[in-house]
Amino acid sequence: MAKVKYNEGQPCEHTGCLNHLTHPCEGCGRIGGKGIIYELEQLDFPCTIEALQHEVKGWEQRYDELDAGHSKLFKAFCGLKQENEQLQAQLTDITKIRDDYATAARVIALYLVDFCDNSMPYDKMIADAARKACMAVEKRDEALKQAREILQDMVDVANVSGSAYLYKRDTGKVIEVIAAIDKIGGREDV
Ligand SMILES: [Zn+2]
Repeated sequence: MAKVKYNEGQPCEHTGCLNHLTHPCEGCGRIGGKGIIYELEQLDFPCTIEALQHEVKGWEQRYDELDAGHSKLFKAFCGLKQENEQLQAQLTDITKIRDDYATAARVIALYLVDFCDNSMPYDKMIADAARKACMAVEKRDEALKQAREILQDMVDVANVSGSAYLYKRDTGKVIEVIAAIDKIGGREDV
C-alpha cells in the first residue's frame, strides 16, 4: 500500500503551502492543501535522463540485433525454399527417369521371358536375361552363317556342273532359303 506523505489539510515543506488558494502550491501541487499526497514508492526504473537514454540505447541495439537476426533468418529461409524447389524439380526428373527405366525393364522382361531366372533380384535378372539372349542370338547367327555358306556352295556346284536336273530340283528352293536367311537381322545387303 502506498504511504501517505501529506494528508488532507497537512502542509508540505513549501512555505505557505496551505495559503495557496488561487494557484497550486509549488511544493505539492495542491490548492489550499486539498487532497492527499502519497509517498512515491521506490520503483525499479532508471530515473535519470542519462540512465533512460542508456536504457533506450540498449533496447535500440537489441532491436538492431534482432532485426539483423531476422534478416539473416529470412535470407536463410529464402535459400532453403529455393533449394527445396530445386530438389523437388530434381525429384520429379529422377522419378520420371526411374519410371521410364521400370517400363523399359518390364518390356525387356516380356520379350526375354524365356531367359528370365525369377529366383534372381529384378535388376540382376534383366541383365542376366539380356546377356543370355545376346549369346543365343550370336550362336544362331553363327549357325545361320554356316548353313548359308553350305547352301551357297551347293548352288555354285550346281551352276558349275551344269546339271540341269540338279539345278531344277534343288537350286530354286535353296536360293529361297538363302534369301530368307539373308533377311534375318537385316542381311539383305550381304
Ligand atoms: Zn504545498
